[in-house]
Amino acid sequence: MDLLDPVLQSYPWGSRTHLADITGVASPTAKPWAELWFGAHPLASATVDGKALDSVIAADPVAALGARAASESEKLPFLLKLLAADEPLSLQAHPTLAEAQEGFHRENAQGIPPTAHFRNYRDDNHKPELIVALTQFDALAGFRPVERTKQMFEEFGVPELEHYLGLLDSVDDESSLRALFTTWLTLPQDVLDELVEATAKRCAEYGGDDPEYRLVAETTCELARKYPGDPGVLGSMLLNRLRLMPGEAIFLGAGQLHAYLGGMGVEIMANSDNVLRGGLTSKHVDVVELLRVLCFEPLEAPVLHGRVDGEGWSNFDTPANEFSLASTRVESGESVDFGRDSATIVLVTEGKVTLSSGSQTLDVPCGHAAWIPAAQASNIQLRAEPQENQSSVAAQEAADTARATGAQVFVATVPR
Ligand SMILES: [Zn+2]
Repeated sequence: MDLLDPVLQSYPWGSRTHLADITGVASPTAKPWAELWFGAHPLASATVDGKALDSVIAADPVAALGARAASESEKLPFLLKLLAADEPLSLQAHPTLAEAQEGFHRENAQGIPPTAHFRNYRDDNHKPELIVALTQFDALAGFRPVERTKQMFEEFGVPELEHYLGLLDSVDDESSLRALFTTWLTLPQDVLDELVEATAKRCAEYGGDDPEYRLVAETTCELARKYPGDPGVLGSMLLNRLRLMPGEAIFLGAGQLHAYLGGMGVEIMANSDNVLRGGLTSKHVDVVELLRVLCFEPLEAPVLHGRVDGEGWSNFDTPANEFSLASTRVESGESVDFGRDSATIVLVTEGKVTLSSGSQTLDVPCGHAAWIPAAQASNIQLRAEPQENQSSVAAQEAADTARATGAQVFVATVPR
């Protein structure tokens, strides 16, 4: 086992403080820090002792992943991230495995270079993803049930939209949402310019007290300011507007439309980069392809809570075969024992821990992670240590809290 040095991704929507503060780096940073990748993605592999994790795994897949996981794939099937957003990400969805395979081969056959900006499918994998909030975390995820959406637009009172909202009276929620969303995303630009502006104006005037509608109104105004005339502004109003508290999560299966709006979280996903965008971005948008993969069935209960087991672990159960994620909190000076039968990454999100396996021990500071190959993962002891020598005021404050509450860790592995 060893420290896993992540790859920093600096995207414009990132935060200049969140990731720096959690890793103990002086903040604000010069560039926005969006994501730290703790994984073995071929284009951005984290490193162990100076070596790329993907090549460490390739050199001895059975020792790294365990016999069971290595017999299915000789690559790490998941990608673990720390993500911090100060601004909204694009409106997006990810394909099913079959759609990704078909799309990847289709674009290859068309001779589209793998790194072309207009390429939709960069690999042949699906990308189920789970995000667990570390701070208050704002997001749009999955379509809202139609009755609630109709009530919302009634309360907002946007006469300019009335003509379109009739489409919500189709035979069922799924066809209603498909009809309305498709119509909005394919309207001529001059119509969109007017509709988005008029809608934002009504939202700014909303004085009702439904907590979700208030957030929708706020978000719509913000998005319309950033992306005037973007059909994604209207489309986003059809989605569940969520405000997660720390420890709450969202799982997004194939075809679920979503956009993260702000906050910091731990994210885990199948090792893929296939994104179909529906707006709210300067990146490539392919509406036809997005509409092909979108799931229009409303997402009724989008917030996922960890299932707490007898040992106090919060288990974030999802249908994904590529990853399993659990978290726990350990009081200062206390230890917990646990074991996994495949490659394991331990990410520390509060406090500082010491890991022991056999005769080896490893200190893992806040915001850092340990790579534990399967051969060493069956019997791990994790001890929460008090923190010292903080480099910034914010980190010192975090340390003071940690001294009182101990450490928090996330453990990612390949599910059985
Ligand atoms: Zn996504």
